[in-house]
Amino acid sequence: MPNGQWAGHNRKATMPPGWEAIRRAILLRDNYTCYKCKAYANHVDHVKNAASGGSDNSENLKAICEPCHRVKSSAEGGRAKAAKQPKRQRPQEPHPGLI
Ligand SMILES: [Zn+2]
Repeated sequence: MPNGQWAGHNRKATMPPGWEAIRRAILLRDNYTCYKCKAYANHVDHVKNAASGGSDNSENLKAICEPCHRVKSSAEGGRAKAAKQPKRQRPQEPHPGLI
């Protein structure tokens, strides 16, 4: 098995200049309401993602909540994000300042 690269893994999330302002405008327009589940939204989604030719026009952008965004992004990425990685367990160390 060659140590090949991920096919189609060059999908860089490049945000346009002024993205923060765009993002805020979309959130305001959509009343901070997720277009999928109607929960409080603080993310903005490319309805059609850039890799599929989606644009940064406001009609392609919608407010989305974080859980929905994560689900959608990981589905688009084609692999589960490491959202559920087990936390590394480490024995608690005493705080040096408290001794
Ligand atoms: Zn949602």
